[in-house]
Amino acid sequence: MEAPRALYLHVPFCPQVCHYCDFHKMRRNERLVAAYLQRLERDAAALAARWPGPLDTAYFGGGTPSHLTDAELDRVLAAVRAGWGGLGQHETTLEADPGTFDEARALRWRAAGISRVSIGMQSTQDPVLRFLGRSHSGEQALRAARDARSAGLQVSLDVITAVPGQDARADLEAAAASGAQHVSVYSLTVEPHTPFARRGVRIDEDRAADDFELAEALLGRHGLERYEVSNHAREGYESRHNRTYWRGDGYLALGPSAAGFEPPSASDPAGTRGVRTRNAPIKAWLQGAAPERTPVDGPALALELLMTGLRTREGLELARVEARTGVVLAQRFGPQLQQALEAGLLQERGGWLVATRRGLMLLNAVLRSFFAAEPADDEPADDEPAAASARAAAPR
Ligand code: SF4
Repeated sequence: MEAPRALYLHVPFCPQVCHYCDFHKMRRNERLVAAYLQRLERDAAALAARWPGPLDTAYFGGGTPSHLTDAELDRVLAAVRAGWGGLGQHETTLEADPGTFDEARALRWRAAGISRVSIGMQSTQDPVLRFLGRSHSGEQALRAARDARSAGLQVSLDVITAVPGQDARADLEAAAASGAQHVSVYSLTVEPHTPFARRGVRIDEDRAADDFELAEALLGRHGLERYEVSNHAREGYESRHNRTYWRGDGYLALGPSAAGFEPPSASDPAGTRGVRTRNAPIKAWLQGAAPERTPVDGPALALELLMTGLRTREGLELARVEARTGVVLAQRFGPQLQQALEAGLLQERGGWLVATRRGLMLLNAVLRSFFAAEPADDEPADDEPAAASARAAAPR
């Protein structure tokens, strides 16, 4: 496994707590932010000393990184620069909430080396935004996209579908018409321990499946092609950072509860192909708790590559899976592969394994057949369309 050249940096502060959110986040207070920045600077120096980069991509996620002040964000960027000599050489993304920036601020980000913003638009309909617990309006979301584009930033918009009372077509049309180069579409899910779970909110699964198909057709007509279950882009604007996750390449984690994937060290068990790392939640992280490390062996990594690779339009390169994991998929999962190929859910094209359109719709069922052959912890657990488990493809 090669040394990681991607960085995920978690900023846990948010202007509000959305009713559906299960990410590691909290409201800010000045003392907490000051302690966070100090700890982040120390951790960046230590991590960069172990993995010096340079970085190809950097992703500032959260939480809401744009909820930091200019001076605070400058310190975060300076810590990355001091450690790795620069931000992402190919792509540096900042997650931003509408309502936290205007064109002047976007210009400042651009000048500071941010190349791309991922804006949490979610919907353009105010009742839907209120239902979700967002603190911005639909008009603010569209204005944020305009401001970021005018500042010369690449723009990705997040849209949530299958929300009760939502006109998903109108939201997708608005996202396409905004000129964004990238649109991520997530079906609403009710995660445990969220306000929605406590209120017993239910998702209409038929509606979720309809919206999943609608997103592909509608965004595709506007030149935003689906290239991963949840992601659509104009040609050349696919997320390079997320591709790191989907291909099983290494990435570094900075910040509370951030996840990483690093090459094994000498003390890991024989046969370890990579190590998942998970930083502690903020309280323990501020006290200096070490990240949790989980060694991943070849068979487990092969299953992970199946899970993430089949979500992408390009699919999975069989020879690469073998080289990375030591597993020959055709041998280990012969009957399961045969069945999925015969059912028209998967296709083999020039040494690549790719999910068909129908296969993408039924991806969780396809993956379950592989897990059934070799049980593992992360088994997809439901019959929802694959879009519903979008978070699996974007660790943080
Ligand atoms: S959805 Fe985003 S903005 Fe809302 S609480 Fe979660 S991390 Fe914060």
